[in-house]
Amino acid sequence: MKKDAYDVIVVGAGNAAMSAALSAREQGARVLVLERAPRAKRGGNSSFTAGGFRFVFHGVEDIKKIVPDLTPEEIACTDFGDYTAEQYLDDLGRITQYHIDPDLAEILVRNSTPTVQWLREKGIRLVPNYGRQAFKHEGRFKFFGGFIIGAVGGGRGLIDGQFAAAEKLGIDIRYDAQATSLLRGSSGVDGVRVFAHGVEEEIRARAVVLACGGFEANREWRTKYLGPGWDMAKVRGTRYNTGDGIRMALDIGAQSYGQWSGCHSVSWERYANDFGDTDLTKSGQRNCYQFSIMINAEGQRFLDEGADFRNYTYAKYGRVVMQQPGGYAWQVFDAQGAPFLRDEYKLRGATKVQANTLEELADRMRDVHPANFVATVRDYNASIKRDVPFNPNVKDGRCTVGLAMPKSNWANPIEVPPFEAYSVGTGITFTFGGLKIDTTGHVLDTADTPLPGLYAAGELVGGLYYFNYPGSAGLMSGAVFGRISGREAATAALAK
Ligand SMILES: Cc1cc2nc3c(=O)[nH]c(=O)nc-3n(C[C@H](O)[C@H](O)[C@H](O)COP(=O)(O)OP(=O)(O)OC[C@H]3O[C@@H](n4cnc5c(N)ncnc54)[C@H](O)[C@@H]3O)c2cc1C
Repeated sequence: MKKDAYDVIVVGAGNAAMSAALSAREQGARVLVLERAPRAKRGGNSSFTAGGFRFVFHGVEDIKKIVPDLTPEEIACTDFGDYTAEQYLDDLGRITQYHIDPDLAEILVRNSTPTVQWLREKGIRLVPNYGRQAFKHEGRFKFFGGFIIGAVGGGRGLIDGQFAAAEKLGIDIRYDAQATSLLRGSSGVDGVRVFAHGVEEEIRARAVVLACGGFEANREWRTKYLGPGWDMAKVRGTRYNTGDGIRMALDIGAQSYGQWSGCHSVSWERYANDFGDTDLTKSGQRNCYQFSIMINAEGQRFLDEGADFRNYTYAKYGRVVMQQPGGYAWQVFDAQGAPFLRDEYKLRGATKVQANTLEELADRMRDVHPANFVATVRDYNASIKRDVPFNPNVKDGRCTVGLAMPKSNWANPIEVPPFEAYSVGTGITFTFGGLKIDTTGHVLDTADTPLPGLYAAGELVGGLYYFNYPGSAGLMSGAVFGRISGREAATAALAK
């Protein structure tokens, strides 16, 4: 390979990487994308997603700019609401217990709408996420929880669209190509060492963008940084995110940043495979817990299932499940809750039991204290403020009274047979700790000085999420910082 054959090398091929590549190419740079995975498994965690983006909008008029083919019927029966920049910043602050880097938060929020618009211009089609983000209640849909738009075809549709745009623009893509270290010359980072098809090689470029994910698929790092028990978590997405990009940058003096002991993790099918499957008919998703009660091995409730919309609680509840005896829990529904269960609960891989009495259900769960369980359900049923009407689209205030562990919203009794229970463990989505970047995507060293030629975006950036995460901020931040870092890397490379 000729020296400086490329202006910009992008390591990784998920949403952040492809946004960086498209943006760098837009500046006129010659771009190479290195994807560790084979072609059939390209796209990282981004390809496992629902393709949801959290961005600022004001009413249906803004939505129509992004989804021009909304039908008059859809408009008539939907309350899209607003999501202001102030709400977005408040959510990011509240959810992360105000640890989020304020400069990164500001960049994410202010660039969210133009970046979604930019993706659309690149050919990504977007639609409202009816069903998962808005229930039909009394004849109308009302979106809740801050995000409403997803890519057509979900994450796979998003990734295929980004690859199609990249190929059209002449971006080179190499599959089965694992970056292993960064190369440095007199003017800073000037290439990467790559292991591809059993052979090591060096590829030169004037700037490098790292966008190759966190370390959630690295069992050893999980245990080392997240703590004991995390070796047993199931990985919801790709097997290829083992922290390579973070390690490569730390090796040349980059600063570690963010919450290294934190991650996004959910309650997930207990006996799921070790890694995710983009075939959604095998999804381990169990996100309808707000219409359940969750109980542990001792037959006790241990979290507030209705504390907030699921977009604001699901990413921290995986850790809470792991902390239970044996690291598992059961989500229990009755016949009134069952209609809210999404398709993934009905798949063959779900660990499910069903019975006509609570005693029988306890017997079938086998690993839950039966007498405690029955008492927990009876106490819970007796504590519900039944005069408050149930409404799944708002925080309805239908809560329990007097329980040590409250349920704050959507507290429907578990009393109408048949009863169903689904067993869950912990599924890890992505890790929160990573590299420190500035607002141009430049990677900083331990003295907060930019490392020449090195940029980063996506999951491997630290400082955005702590303790928890607001649903669909991941793709949005990957696209925002990918677009910025690609542009900045290209500008710096072309100026060299
Ligand atoms: C099941 C699931 C559902 C989700 N749903 C949503 C959602 O709807 N909305 C949302 O915002 N977020 C969602 N997320 C989170 C979201 O996936 C991430 O926030 C986002 O995809 C991260 O993008 P990324 O580009 O940083 O990383 P990834 O998409 O994971 O891409 C990393 C890339 O780097 C490659 N790579 C790794 N190591 C190397 C190496 N050494 N050399 C070369 N390449 C390498 C990988 O193969 C991959 O292509 C979901 C996650 C999962 C698992």
